[in-house]
Amino acid sequence: MTHVAVIGGGPAGCAVARRLALGGIRVTQFVSGTVAGREGLSRRTCELLREDGFGDLAAVLTGPVPRGGHWGSGRSVAGEEWLADREQLAAEMRAGAAAAGAVMRDDLIEGIAGDYPEFRVRTRSGAEVTATAVVDARGRRGAELHGPTLLALGQGFRTAAPLPSGTAIHPMSWGWCWIVRNGPQLWIQLAGQPGDGRPEGWLARAARELPELVSALKGAVSIGEPVARPSHARRSIAPAQPGLIRTGDAAVGLDPLSGQGVYEALRGARVAAAAVRSLIDGVDPAVVTRFLTERDDALWERVVSTAAAFYAENTGIGAFWSNTAAAYRALERSPVPIATAIERRPVLDGDRIRERDVLVTAAQPRGVWQVDGVSVVALIHYIQRVGNATPSAAAAELARPQAAVLAAARWLRESGAWPDRVSQVISAGG
Ligand SMILES: Cc1cc2nc3c(=O)[nH]c(=O)nc-3n(C[C@H](O)[C@H](O)[C@H](O)COP(=O)(O)OP(=O)(O)OC[C@H]3O[C@@H](n4cnc5c(N)ncnc54)[C@H](O)[C@@H]3O)c2cc1C
Repeated sequence: MTHVAVIGGGPAGCAVARRLALGGIRVTQFVSGTVAGREGLSRRTCELLREDGFGDLAAVLTGPVPRGGHWGSGRSVAGEEWLADREQLAAEMRAGAAAAGAVMRDDLIEGIAGDYPEFRVRTRSGAEVTATAVVDARGRRGAELHGPTLLALGQGFRTAAPLPSGTAIHPMSWGWCWIVRNGPQLWIQLAGQPGDGRPEGWLARAARELPELVSALKGAVSIGEPVARPSHARRSIAPAQPGLIRTGDAAVGLDPLSGQGVYEALRGARVAAAAVRSLIDGVDPAVVTRFLTERDDALWERVVSTAAAFYAENTGIGAFWSNTAAAYRALERSPVPIATAIERRPVLDGDRIRERDVLVTAAQPRGVWQVDGVSVVALIHYIQRVGNATPSAAAAELARPQAAVLAAARWLRESGAWPDRVSQVISAGG
């Protein structure tokens, strides 16, 4: 029977383990401790958690709470988010994976040997487990390409009286401060480049710049130890290996200023589960590996340019911001000219990775194969074949609703591919 080893008990590992176990695959999940901290989760992150069926989230999520503060440009931070204690979130998600049938082992993995379909994972306690495929969701570990070196320091406090729950972000000359209020609990997270000095001195240094921090800390008593975490954006550069699937921060880690790390971990987990299922179905491992590598490359490009834009917004505050923006910008790939073409490429088709004909354009270098369920390439071929295509005839030929065919035709026109003939279809549709 197929046996999958999932390494890591964070959001990515738990989401993959749960999906695979629900699909009837034998899963062993290796977990270890969780670094303390708080996560601010967006609405769409909470939706993914709910869709993935992670138990009673109300028990571990507080929210929505208002977001406040400001950026260096003067723009206010607005909106809402949900607060999660990292350890509680991991515990809830591990329980969800176990409930689906994943076998939990509290053991660190120290080595992975072998090849698809027979890997051997060695644990710190001396056990060796054989697995058909391995999902590496160990978080920020291993050889990496990374953005500017950034550190984060978090510390919990208890306030004298409960305060309305909410978060605020404040930029400083050497980084930024995230203030999280949740009743009598206060969490302060400083991220940036504090320069010389021990982490204990960071808070005092931040307080010298931020009156908001001074007022938040008034009468507050620290709880627990401060927690330091590396927080630069990262891309794994460990060689791709069929059947060994890296996901979550183990593949691509975001700069925390984006606030979307858990969202991307959950999205990546879906792809990792699809990759495992595709291998089991007999899809060529090289096709699966190519898809994962190209997806991670594209995500890394987005991560770098989003971070560059965020830091650039605050350049008025000091050299830290312009230097960090410049360091991220230096990682951006210079655009290469991409000709519009039809190519055969791996795509995510539902919960499987398969090869499909896709339309590659400069805006979509990995190619698009479907719009509203309509195969873009089948539509192009049809239009080329019949000349004066009508939406109803195209809908009948492609076995899709007329509205979907029109949406695909509109997308095709906007992409700049075959504009004249596509326009005919759209105008014929009214
Ligand atoms: C300072 C900071 C603040 C952040 N704030 C936010 C935020 O507000 N909102 C947000 O959405 N994201 C935030 N993120 C990002 C978010 O924390 C991560 O993207 C997310 O946790 C990634 O999930 P993961 O499962 O890939 O990795 P992790 O959560 O890191 O989980 C990896 C797990 O693997 C385990 N492990 C490691 N090695 C082994 C081994 N050898 N054997 C077995 N297990 C192992 C670890 O103990 C850990 O439990 C922040 C990140 C940082 C650094």
